[in-house]
Amino acid sequence: MMRFDAIIIGAGAAGLMAAIETGRSGRSVCLIDHTARPGEKIRISGGGRCNFTNRELDHLTARDRFLSQNPRFALSALSRYSPQDFITRLDRAGIAWHEKHKGQLFCDGKASQIVDMLTRDLREAGGTLSLDTTVETITREGTDFHVTTSQGLMTAPKLVIATGGKSIPKMGATGIGYKIAVQFGLSLTETRPALVPLTFAEQELVKTKPLAGTAIPVTIQHNKTRFDEDLLFTHRGLSGPAILQISSYWRDGDPLTLDLLPGQNIARLLADQRQEKGRMALHNALARWLPEKIAALAVAESGMQGRLADQNNAKLEHLATYVHQWQIKPVGSEGYRTAEVTLGGVSTKDLDAKTMEAKSQPGLFFVGEVVDVTGWLGGYNFQWAWASGFAAGKA
Ligand code: FAD
Repeated sequence: MMRFDAIIIGAGAAGLMAAIETGRSGRSVCLIDHTARPGEKIRISGGGRCNFTNRELDHLTARDRFLSQNPRFALSALSRYSPQDFITRLDRAGIAWHEKHKGQLFCDGKASQIVDMLTRDLREAGGTLSLDTTVETITREGTDFHVTTSQGLMTAPKLVIATGGKSIPKMGATGIGYKIAVQFGLSLTETRPALVPLTFAEQELVKTKPLAGTAIPVTIQHNKTRFDEDLLFTHRGLSGPAILQISSYWRDGDPLTLDLLPGQNIARLLADQRQEKGRMALHNALARWLPEKIAALAVAESGMQGRLADQNNAKLEHLATYVHQWQIKPVGSEGYRTAEVTLGGVSTKDLDAKTMEAKSQPGLFFVGEVVDVTGWLGGYNFQWAWASGFAAGKA
């Protein structure tokens, strides 16, 4: 039997962070993962450059940028480990980074630099990394947790579950964290794929498939939630940051509204062109502002045809509803196969917001994506993983 002060299951972003802080406080810690390498999602994230945090995150923005049954739950941990704390860490390690749009920070070089930094920190903190280790059973006896693994029995008075969500099973996601929560009497909120491409029904796809690969900046809206981001047509439906963001709010069957020319008034722009370009086919006139295939689709959807000169103002207003308020009805999402995160998870009402410890099970902690805290696209999910892992490690 191997005895530690703490066992952490899941060597992703949150588990690495929790293990490092535990080790730094002088306690023995074992970080277990069933895969052969730690931090696989860090490595592949952000197109291989890892969007590791977001500079726009502060106490005010955090209220909107995380979805949870209790959006205030995340504030405590996020305020005690900020984006600047992680930036300082990278700067000390000599890892160069840059800002893309909307506060998103990426490595200049490979994301694996972050994994290397964290595994080095873990080693220096005296932590044990047990890879290729399968967890078989977990039991509790008094204050001790017994974890039976493929490497033998491990025991500790503290157990941290950092096993992430269900997204991308190919990369090691198993959903085991939810089972452990239920085993120890914690409740779960409904889980579903988020930050995920949406799909169209076959009759819609016939119209949109020819557009696959086309991207345009849009405003996308679902009830009162809206994002100004790029939209990408795919062979199965829609993707791009606009769709990934809104997918966290979308439910099966909900309509979404797209403005394909945000900040412009297409009816007025076309009316202004009517004298000079009246002989142009309507879709060609519209193609001055939109990619040709999208212009053709908008005109076809509106049921209009003919030349620009044939359209009176009322007709142009009709076309404008297809450009500025295009209603789309995705039928589903691509699911956990491609979702960046899992929405929902271990209920925050059962956890202490400062330490991530289960209120009814002293010594048992849940951190990272397994918890019902899901960030927007743009570095928010890693920041939650760093911050919640740090909170548990400190505790
Ligand atoms: P994970 O990183 O998923 O780690 C969980 C670990 O637990 C894994 O190593 C897994 O192997 C292990 N595990 C699972 N089950 C078991 C088991 N039964 N036994 C032992 N070990 C187990 N977020 C951002 O903020 N910025 C980005 O740029 C970004 N890009 C992304 C790109 C992709 C393609 C994906 C899929 C996600 C991306 N995310 C991004 C989301 C981000 O990766 C997650 O929010 C984050 O990794 C969650 O960290 P975690 O430590 O909670 O879980």
